[in-house]
Amino acid sequence: MDAKLIDGRAIADSIKEEVIREAAILSQEGINLRLVAVQAGENPASAVYVKQQKKNCEKAGISYELKSISADITEACLLEEIEKLNSDSTVTGIILQMPLPEGIDARKVQAAISVAKDVEGVNPSNMGWVIYGRPFLAPCTALAVKEIIDATGVHLYGKEVVIVGHSDIVGKPVALLLLDKFATVSVCHIGTSEAGMLEEHVRRADILVVAVGRANVIPGEWVKEGAVVVDVGINRVGDKIAGDVEFDSASKKASFITPVPGGVGPVTTAILLRNVVKAAKWTKNR
Ligand code: NDP
Repeated sequence: MDAKLIDGRAIADSIKEEVIREAAILSQEGINLRLVAVQAGENPASAVYVKQQKKNCEKAGISYELKSISADITEACLLEEIEKLNSDSTVTGIILQMPLPEGIDARKVQAAISVAKDVEGVNPSNMGWVIYGRPFLAPCTALAVKEIIDATGVHLYGKEVVIVGHSDIVGKPVALLLLDKFATVSVCHIGTSEAGMLEEHVRRADILVVAVGRANVIPGEWVKEGAVVVDVGINRVGDKIAGDVEFDSASKKASFITPVPGGVGPVTTAILLRNVVKAAKWTKNR
């Protein structure tokens, strides 16, 4: 079987069109979308991310501002900065760029972001809504994975879903989002791998989601015939970007597969913009 490529850019474009329309309506109502990204210290990887965020926001009619803070800020001062943004009614969304400088408890700062401005869905309250099966401002990549699976038209009911990677922003929320559609969900991690059980789980997957951050950690040969493969990983290999799944061999077995780049990444970015709109509407209706 030769897999159909899932075109993340096309999915992203349709989300972005909807965001542009909604941003225009909100603007007519006097609500101007304003996203502030807080970055404590320098980080070359997040500098690239910030540049992309700015470009995407501006195209969608969202004003974007980077608040750069010195790496030697204390946790208490960073919490104060977040509080100022929470109480500024012109700010409709807040992003906290990771990683934070050493000594700062990221969980504590994430928990301080106003629930209604938490466009990355990292506040424990927003995470909690995912557990309740009522995701609203949920983590963008997890929502992107769900959006991509929906775009294939494959129903999740009764399917074997295997997720490799159990991070708070990808693996765990993806598991909950898909569980709510009555898929049978297994979550694998380093323990699964070290117990020599990863292959056995992957071979069972009707839908395979991989978010590890290690190129080719999943050999294509392991992929079940006809599976849907969603590769979240982004890895630099020489001068190229590769996913976590061996793409060429996996494509021969899967029914649908996401390319890297051009799969989950663009959809995640578009979902962030959608979350900015949702957050502003939520604040308006409170
Ligand atoms: P984390 O590092 O937080 O999580 C990686 C997960 O993989 C952990 O649960 C880890 O387990 C597990 N793991 C590590 N090695 C193995 C192994 N050999 N076998 C099985 N599991 C393993 O990463 P993220 O979830 O934040 O990101 C994962 C990847 O997705 C990265 O490449 C990242 O760049 C990419 N990404 C892409 C996005 C996009 O928009 N396309 C957005 C977000 C992330 P343990 O913790 O137990 O070691």
